[in-house]
Amino acid sequence: MRELIDKLATEHALSKEEWMRIIESRQEEAYLRERATAFQKEYYGNKVYTRGLIEFSNYCKNNCLYCGIRRDNRQVERYRLTKDDILDCCRQGYALDFRTFVLQGGEDSYFTDERIVDIILSMKKEYPDCAITLSLGEKDKASYQRFFDAGADRYLLRHETANAEHYRKLHPAQMPFERRMQCLWDLKEIGYQVGCGFMVGSPCQTRETLAEDMLFLTKLQPAMVGIGPFVPHHETPFAKESQGTVEQTLHMLSLIRLTLPKVLLPSTTALGTIDPKGREMGILAGGNVVMPNLSPTTVRKQYELYDNKICTGDEAAECRMCLARRMESIGYEIVTDRGDSQMDGYKTKGNQPE
Ligand code: SAH
Repeated sequence: MRELIDKLATEHALSKEEWMRIIESRQEEAYLRERATAFQKEYYGNKVYTRGLIEFSNYCKNNCLYCGIRRDNRQVERYRLTKDDILDCCRQGYALDFRTFVLQGGEDSYFTDERIVDIILSMKKEYPDCAITLSLGEKDKASYQRFFDAGADRYLLRHETANAEHYRKLHPAQMPFERRMQCLWDLKEIGYQVGCGFMVGSPCQTRETLAEDMLFLTKLQPAMVGIGPFVPHHETPFAKESQGTVEQTLHMLSLIRLTLPKVLLPSTTALGTIDPKGREMGILAGGNVVMPNLSPTTVRKQYELYDNKICTGDEAAECRMCLARRMESIGYEIVTDRGDSQMDGYKTKGNQPE
C-alpha cells in the first residue's frame, strides 16, 4: 500500500483498479496523512482559509433524495434573505475580516438572473477586495456567464457522484446526470475557479463509484473540492440510511490532497456534525479551508440539509472565534485574505470530457 500512496503522491493519478484498492485500504493511514499534510504544509504552511457562508434561501425546486430542503419536505419553514439582509451579512463578515463570501441556496426561482446579478454588483461595489463564490445549483451557461461578468469569481457545484447510475439513485429523473456534468464544464470554460465534490457514504456508494469520483477529479482539475459525510435527514426518503463515517471522510480528504496538491479543500460542517472534533481532524488529514456561517441566526435552523447540523445558534462572530480557537488548538492559523486558488491554469479550459 505504501507504494501506491507514493505513486499517487508523485504522479497524482491512479488507474481505476488502483483507486479501488487505495480507497478500501486502511493499512497505512498514518503514512497517508503524513504525505497529504506534507503537501498542505508545502503550499499553505499552517494556514487555513476562511470563507463566510451566507445561506440566502432554502426554497428549492429540486427534490434530491438526500437533502433536507428538498421540494417535498413540507415540514421546513421556507425563507429567503433580501439583498439588504445579504449585504448586512457581508458587512458583519467584513468586520470579522472575511474576504470571501459564499452565497449558497436552494434552486429558488424567485432569484432570477437579474436579481442575482444585482446582488453580485452590490457586493462588489461595497467590497471590491472580496471574492464572491456562488453555490446556486444548475443554471444555463448564459446565466453562469452573466454572473461571472458581474463579478462572481468562484462557483461550487458538487457533482455528488461521477457514476451515472449512482447519480440516478440519489436524484429524481428530472435531474439528469449529464446536465450536472455539463454545468461543471461550462463553469470551467467560462473561467470560474470551480469546486466540485461529493458526500462520503451516500446511499449506494461503493469503492467503485468513489474511484470514479477520483478519476473525475483528475480530469476536471477543480480549484476546490467539497466533501463531507452523508448525514441522513429525517424528512427525506433516506431518513433510515446510515451516515458516512469520520474515518472514511478523512481517508478521502487525504487522497484528494495527494491527487490535487494545491486544491482548496474545506473541512466541512457535516464532518463537524458527526464528530465534535471533526473539523480539526479534517485539517489534519489535508484540508485547508473552513466555512463559518454568516447567515442571520434567525434562519440558521431552517437551512437544515441534514439532521443535527451544528452552529445553528451562534452569531457570526462566535463562529469565527470558535473556529479560530479550534484551528489554534491543532497548530494552525486562520487567515483572512482571499486565498485564491494556487492551481496552475485553473482559469483555462482544462480537459474536455470525451
Ligand atoms: N442547491 C445548491 C446547494 C446545495 S446544498 C446546489 O445544488 O449546489 C450543498 C451540498 O450539501 C450539496 O451539494 C450536498 O452534497 C450537501 N448535502 C445535501 N444534503 C446532505 C446530507 N443529507 N448530508 C450531507 N450533505 C448533504
